[in-house]
Amino acid sequence: MQPELMTHRNLLDSARVEEFLGALPVRASPLSQVLARGGLALTVDDASRAAGEAARLARRLGHEVTIFVNPDNVQSVRPHYFFLLNAALEQAPYARLGSWDLRSPAGRRDIRKQLKQEFLRLDTEEDRMEWVRAVAARLEVEEPDLPDHLVTLGVDELEDLVSAGVQLGNHGWQHADPRHQDVSSVELLVERGATWLQETFGVSEGVFAVPFGKALPPRGLDLGQVRWWLLSDARLHPGFVGPGLYNRMELLASDDQLAEIEGWLR
Ligand SMILES: [Zn+2]
Repeated sequence: MQPELMTHRNLLDSARVEEFLGALPVRASPLSQVLARGGLALTVDDASRAAGEAARLARRLGHEVTIFVNPDNVQSVRPHYFFLLNAALEQAPYARLGSWDLRSPAGRRDIRKQLKQEFLRLDTEEDRMEWVRAVAARLEVEEPDLPDHLVTLGVDELEDLVSAGVQLGNHGWQHADPRHQDVSSVELLVERGATWLQETFGVSEGVFAVPFGKALPPRGLDLGQVRWWLLSDARLHPGFVGPGLYNRMELLASDDQLAEIEGWLR
């Protein structure tokens, strides 16, 4: 693991995760059970090969685990646009582009932060993919080379994971941020994802993990079959936030985090 790499963002070394999951005082329970009655649940977002590997590792250690996927990406085995963006930033041949410093990790993080404000506002997946291609062209990266671990899992690979006891959940039809979408687009995002998962894998838990983790259900949203809306927002405490609303904490696999979890479970 090289934490300074853009293509290693939000990833942990598997040996460290293995040690952490092995040291937990309890095994993680099925997510729907935890949402209803409490306990410890493990979830992984985005159907990348790295996510698949993390879920297999959890299963091997006896934990229940859920991967939240974007069915449109899975169905077409299309990479996530933000993974392509990260690869392009890392593979730019020059040290600078205008005022951008492309060589230092801090410089690349700054650029990504600025760019994020642009891509979150785009309406459709086509716009987002086109925008990433335009940024890559600006960086003079002809075709961002996606590392193996960020390749999207297809339906067959998800089937293998399901056979290994991994649960699947709805991360939206595509990876769009509801904070920048109108209510009917958010409804479509949630419903199309849920319908596909129901029809393809029989998933009916009614759990939605919102892309980017921050958006609350917009006012006036008809949640249909969704019973739980999951956030991943470090500004809020983990667990119950409000009716049907839960927050997750990011897995850091640190000793402090282990102590914190042990504290809750006591
Ligand atoms: Zn995600």
